[in-house]
Amino acid sequence: MLTKDTAICIRATDFSETSQILTLFTRATGKISVIAKGSKRPKSAFDGPVEVFSYGRIVFSDSTKEKLVTLTEFEQQPGFANLANNLFALNCCLFGAELVNSLTNEHDPHPELFDGFLRFLQNTNEKQKTKNEKQKTLSLLILFQLTLLREIGLQPILSYCVNCKNNFKTDWPQTYFSSSANGLICRDCEASFPDKIGLTKNAANCLANAKLIAETNEKTLNEIEKILVRHFTEILHKPPKMAKYVLRS
Ligand SMILES: [Zn+2]
Repeated sequence: MLTKDTAICIRATDFSETSQILTLFTRATGKISVIAKGSKRPKSAFDGPVEVFSYGRIVFSDSTKEKLVTLTEFEQQPGFANLANNLFALNCCLFGAELVNSLTNEHDPHPELFDGFLRFLQNTNEKQKTKNEKQKTLSLLILFQLTLLREIGLQPILSYCVNCKNNFKTDWPQTYFSSSANGLICRDCEASFPDKIGLTKNAANCLANAKLIAETNEKTLNEIEKILVRHFTEILHKPPKMAKYVLRS
């Protein structure tokens, strides 16, 4: 049976001189591993070799018996050309792809996450020709990471203290984030959470009110991204590979 879907490539490896093995994140089917036979030939049904972030309509043969699905068509849309010229933006998008790959299961659809990931790639690509592109890229990555956590059912609690349930207030003298609690912890409760990290006022305000993230300064964004990297490291039981390329710069 042939299935049609829309896909973003999140991993591409060579299988032979002419074929590739791809991990595709699709809108209706979720993550799938496919073999694209002949994709590296000059003329193929895939509009040329498939690369990470290739995006478009696909057709694949859906056999539940076989783990590896055969890709029969990939109608590639004009991609995200600006990413190739900006290493930081490219690394942020690769980090996003790594997290999608690590935190979703095959054949487990997440259409809202697919839309969020596509928007993240499109917006990041567009922002590379504007001022403050690094601040914008980092804020887009953080907002995508929060979307990802929500869509996979791990939404952190950021509007009140997870322990005592008191609503977050901007005049809290100190606010913490704890991975084990999956959210914010107030000063009165912090002693019970050895893994907590103290937040600056700006970072706490941004986490409690995500609308502020797009406009906040790069220093605060770096602080939030460090916390999210630690959080993803706890969730995955290992540091994400791309994290160091995003935090280093
Ligand atoms: Zn509390």
